Amino acid sequence: MTDDIKFNRAVIVGVGLIGASLALAMRERGLAAEIVGVDRDPDVIARAQKLGIIDGGETDLKKGVKGADLVVVSTPVGAVASVAAALADAVDDGALVIDVGSVKGAVAEAAKTLPERVLFVPCHPVAGTERSGPEAGFATLFQDRWCILTPLPREDAAYKQAVDKAAALWTAVGARAEIMDAAHHDLALAVTSHLPHLIAFTLVGAADDVESVAQGEVVKYSAGGFRDFTRIAASDPIMWRDVFLTNKEAVLEVLGRFSEELAVMQRAIRWGDGKTLEDAFSRVRGLRRAIVEAGQESAAPNFGRDEKGE
Ligand code: NAP
Repeated sequence: MTDDIKFNRAVIVGVGLIGASLALAMRERGLAAEIVGVDRDPDVIARAQKLGIIDGGETDLKKGVKGADLVVVSTPVGAVASVAAALADAVDDGALVIDVGSVKGAVAEAAKTLPERVLFVPCHPVAGTERSGPEAGFATLFQDRWCILTPLPREDAAYKQAVDKAAALWTAVGARAEIMDAAHHDLALAVTSHLPHLIAFTLVGAADDVESVAQGEVVKYSAGGFRDFTRIAASDPIMWRDVFLTNKEAVLEVLGRFSEELAVMQRAIRWGDGKTLEDAFSRVRGLRRAIVEAGQESAAPNFGRDEKGE
């Protein structure tokens, strides 16, 4: 892997939470001489520049990527195909192009249309918050988090070097890089990220429908567990719409298994089967311990947040 990583002109396409965080992390470590933002909204560019995230910006993608040796596509997954197609004849030879999308099979499919000279390495930093936009970005977002790379099926030396370079970039911003097959990534993330978000969106929506419980009570007693679901359910609707549209098969597979488990719980509650409930709850507690031990969560009470839940 390349230890010494430095770019001349890094271009961030879509300066939101992930794009801004990567720009800030690169800036803090001096990984690029110049960082440029490309966004369809000039206001986003102006805000990002004011915040010191980018040196300058462009609303025209083709103009923006000219001269870049790194292009980061950090738009919602649904937009990656059109951005990649527009990049095909605009990006310089030898430039490294990565994306950060939460679904990888659909990105690999979109990348099939790219000419071989475009060195596109699909990536997914498994790090984020429920916030969006440039203001949400922070330099330590990727620290000690995993970044999964799902390289395209290419054997040429230039592409292999590009994969190494992409891994070195993520390592340089504090993440741990891992190579995975795109289909395996999509199934694993359907379990660990997509289904939890779907449950949170549904649960918070369902709370709205229980008419005999006033909204005031939902807010007042939310610390009983509901509040943690509302944090996840506050995530960006466009990003999550695209995740479910592009990872359909894996999500439906995992959702089917979840529904079966839920039916077991429903039956145990109905028939007063305490043993089934206790056994199921005891079994899953160990998983929480494993996540804390792996450094992916705080062991402090209330997930390490202060009284305000920050
Ligand atoms: P975000 O804060 O909403 O930023 C997305 C940016 O992309 C915005 O600046 C948006 O511009 C721009 N954009 C949207 N549609 C576009 C289009 N058609 N063409 C060009 N630009 C477009 O979202 P994010 O959380 O950074 O997510 C970006 C990517 O990272 C997604 O693919 C997501 O799956 C992935 N990801 C997210 C997380 C997370 O926790 N949030 C974690 C890991 C990976 P506008 O403001 O004009 O819409």
